[in-house]
Amino acid sequence: MPYPTQPTASHFINGAYVEDTDGTPIDVIYPATGEVIATVHSATPAIIEQALTSARAAQAAWAAMTGTERGRILRRAADMMRDRNHDLSVLETHDTGKPYQETSVADATSGADALEYFGGMAATLTGEHIQLGEDWVYTRREALGVCVGIGAWNYPTQIACWKGAPALACGNAMVFKPSETTPLCALKVAEILHEAGLPAGIYNVVQGLGDVGAALLEDARVDKVSLTGSVPTGRKVYAAAAAGLKHVTMELGGKSPLIVFDDADLENAVSGAILGNFYSSGQVCSNGTRVFVHKDIKEAFLTRLADRLATAVIGDPLDPATSFGPMVSERQMQIVLSYIAKGQDEGARLVCGGTRVDRAGFYLAPTVFADVTDEMTIAREEIFGPVMAVLDFDDEQDVLARANATEFGLAAGVFTRDLARAHRVAAGFEAGTCYINTYNDAPVEAPFGGVKASGVGRENSKAAIEHYSQIKSVYVRMGDLEAPF
Ligand code: NAD
Repeated sequence: MPYPTQPTASHFINGAYVEDTDGTPIDVIYPATGEVIATVHSATPAIIEQALTSARAAQAAWAAMTGTERGRILRRAADMMRDRNHDLSVLETHDTGKPYQETSVADATSGADALEYFGGMAATLTGEHIQLGEDWVYTRREALGVCVGIGAWNYPTQIACWKGAPALACGNAMVFKPSETTPLCALKVAEILHEAGLPAGIYNVVQGLGDVGAALLEDARVDKVSLTGSVPTGRKVYAAAAAGLKHVTMELGGKSPLIVFDDADLENAVSGAILGNFYSSGQVCSNGTRVFVHKDIKEAFLTRLADRLATAVIGDPLDPATSFGPMVSERQMQIVLSYIAKGQDEGARLVCGGTRVDRAGFYLAPTVFADVTDEMTIAREEIFGPVMAVLDFDDEQDVLARANATEFGLAAGVFTRDLARAHRVAAGFEAGTCYINTYNDAPVEAPFGGVKASGVGRENSKAAIEHYSQIKSVYVRMGDLEAPF
């Protein structure tokens, strides 16, 4: 096996690896070569049953532990993830194709941040005391119960931790279903959590496609579902959760705007546009793919952007010098190529890229279109690949209205040296996560999530606690109780 941290079976349930070869095989393909590097089996009904039964059975005792005890286990797991960062990063690179240059600083490290942050917070989760004359009410912050996490393929380690850490800190059990495209990394998260002392059954991983996700979240024993995925999947999962009146967090797609004013620091603005379009080969939900550039600086911006993109090191993702890797799959690459064709058909000007890179694997050249208009398909639909659309503008009010004219509302960014304008524009954005003179930072301390069709609820930060716990009020009467008869 080409990587050192091979999970030993398809599923992780009740504290141990579990296999059931009756499940449909799912090949794991290394995007840099197209080779099959592992095969997992989709969860059978028996596996789903085992996962839900063990989660349900273990949850009450986990919730009954003190927050300090729960948090200590999460923080120990965070330290172990950092100690094993190299191996976990190599695995993440095999699962996703993202360059080691990225995975070694953005995946297990980000997962460890979430485990450390929510581990530290677990002991601070309390209710409140409300005095009512002599009587009083106290509130208890309680776990929801069993949470289902469903992941996308772009950040498999991070998503497994961003959902698992707050859920476990609040005393829930989790059954996590990774994307069928990148099934390996979440298994290592489960393994590490258990090595750190997590009781069996509290964090389980089962494999499968959408049908397994649907079967999990429709089960009556499940109290909440947190999905990271596309808007169409979000609509289905939200509807299924609504039928059971379950709690939801929805981290969905986007088509986020990035506005570059004529007073912006050009070099920083180009950096922001690169980070917001080409990191992870453009497979980032919050990417600022509609780059509105003031018409007076447009040509200078495009020239500098093309120059800098020419220095991207496209190659073997395991080589630390490589800064740009393949798309996750043949299928995703074909989707992106079809969008590139639409851009050309609809009259956008191709500045650079637009084609496959001549090597094995699913590589696409970083692609920039200029002279894009609001109606073009590449300006309206999420592409989820290394394709930037540059649009012109010359008026603040007008560009803000155009930036907001989308069903999505995940992220938005503005580059300007004008302080008042920066905050005015940020306030005007219809987006959950906004950036001023930067793009795509996602520290665990800050809430992350979308408005409109891009999502429901928030991940990370104190805000996530609200989505993994519920409040119980307890009224206490100190004196006698009167009744009408
Ligand atoms: P996807 O919607 O195809 O799949 C996401 C997950 O949902 C997968 O695990 C899939 O198996 C599962 N699924 C599919 N149908 C289901 C159903 N009916 N019931 C239950 N589960 C089901 O998304 P993807 O292609 O894996 O990921 C790309 C999408 O994810 C993009 O739209 C991207 O913007 C979004 N994304 C959002 C965020 C965020 O935080 N907002 C982060 C990463 C990716």
